[in-house]
Amino acid sequence: MPLDLKELVTSRMGENYDLHHNYLNRTLVKVQRTIGFDKVYARAQGAYLYDMDGKDYLDFLSGYGVFAIGRNHPAAQKAIRDVLEMDLPNMVQMDSALLSGLLAEALVKRLAKQGAPHLNAVFLCNSGTESVEGALKFARCATGRPRIISLNNSYHGLSYGSLSATQNHAFHEGFGPFLPGIAHIDMGDLNALEYELKKGDVAALIMELVQGKGVKFAKDDFYQKAQALCRKYGTLLICDEVQTGLGRTGKWFAFEHWNLEPDIITLAKALSAGYVPSAAFITRRAIYQKIFSTLDRSVIHSTTFGRNNLACASGLAALTILEEENLIDNAARQGAELERRLLEVQKKFDFIKEVRVKGLMCAIEFQEPKSIMGKMGWKLIHSLDKSMFPQLIVTPMLAKHRILTQVAAHNCDIVKILPPLIIGQKEIDRFVTAFEDVISDLKKFPGPVWDLGQNFVKAMKSNDSKEELSATH
Ligand code: PMP
Repeated sequence: MPLDLKELVTSRMGENYDLHHNYLNRTLVKVQRTIGFDKVYARAQGAYLYDMDGKDYLDFLSGYGVFAIGRNHPAAQKAIRDVLEMDLPNMVQMDSALLSGLLAEALVKRLAKQGAPHLNAVFLCNSGTESVEGALKFARCATGRPRIISLNNSYHGLSYGSLSATQNHAFHEGFGPFLPGIAHIDMGDLNALEYELKKGDVAALIMELVQGKGVKFAKDDFYQKAQALCRKYGTLLICDEVQTGLGRTGKWFAFEHWNLEPDIITLAKALSAGYVPSAAFITRRAIYQKIFSTLDRSVIHSTTFGRNNLACASGLAALTILEEENLIDNAARQGAELERRLLEVQKKFDFIKEVRVKGLMCAIEFQEPKSIMGKMGWKLIHSLDKSMFPQLIVTPMLAKHRILTQVAAHNCDIVKILPPLIIGQKEIDRFVTAFEDVISDLKKFPGPVWDLGQNFVKAMKSNDSKEELSATH
């Protein structure tokens, strides 16, 4: 019988979590069930997901930043349908296909418009971590140097090279040893950076300019000074723009906020238009040619699916939609409004430590409250589990208000949101009203929200494999 996908989806919708328990990551299923994230989303449009009863959920998670243009954008769908209808040849490999050429051209032209004409040679690949792997390889090969420096609290992906550059203990446990020659320094610590660079063997400094784990960024001129030091010692600067790139921070590229001139940037997530994995790293032609230096090295760095037509069509659609709908300006405008509204909320709640916003990348960090009862709740929950507190916000945001948000990282008190760049006043109102309501409930200790936290901890401890309750990417 031929596959009837529509019939299959309609008849089996609702079995989702059982299937994943049986055949995929059952630990993640247990987490989802415990924290009440076991919803069955049956449809999606723009900034909203819909369950089987048609109830709407506001998506302020955007698939960890994938859905910049919103979900199921008709223009992206059309581009993908067009590829299918044209019966184009795909992945011939030993040809130079049109769509990959057009996507590379569009990326280079966009970079030139944003003040980076030097980034003019593109390598197309399939995921964020793969773009980071490529960037690290190119940096080593082009400089002939072995070492890499990255920042503490960074996230660059989970394959071995990128995981070695990632400085986050939780992701390392059980997987060592890692790539040798990687040093981590604190954001802002120019002395530590120069100490490493002076050794003369550092190929690259890799940085997320706005760190995904907690939306942390330099508030002074650290990035510019770090770039100057890199130049002085012949080290390349890699900006990992997998999350920040393509409008997320209110500019096309995060490096524009600090007028940087990176030697390599990485892109992924939003380049997929929410459809087909699509990633790239882009560098100077001179660096590129050092890798592909002779004819027998023409495929020395290569990936089978890297230039496939559907990924390239998705990339072209994403770039066009972001521009046509002015989504970069919208991200900057809505981000400023969100920041203004959250700073008002902060004035009313002493346990909001800091609101950090760059475009539509936003984190709210909490601290121990001043009231005696508040302190008791805070201490109790932290003594049970160091990652639990933000879950007490993220869970009711979904259960009570049908808004998807996330815990920013392990062992921290940070809630993070990544809304699609298409949101307007209505979505910001709904989020801020719900957020204020949820954190008001935290003032009541003892109370149902704190009980919820204790129940989560019990559920977690009851599991032999002691998985983390927070899924953070
Ligand atoms: N770098 C950064 C800055 C990221 O945010 C991510 C994904 N969260 C990655 C790399 C890895 O991307 P992927 O999950 O597509 O491998």
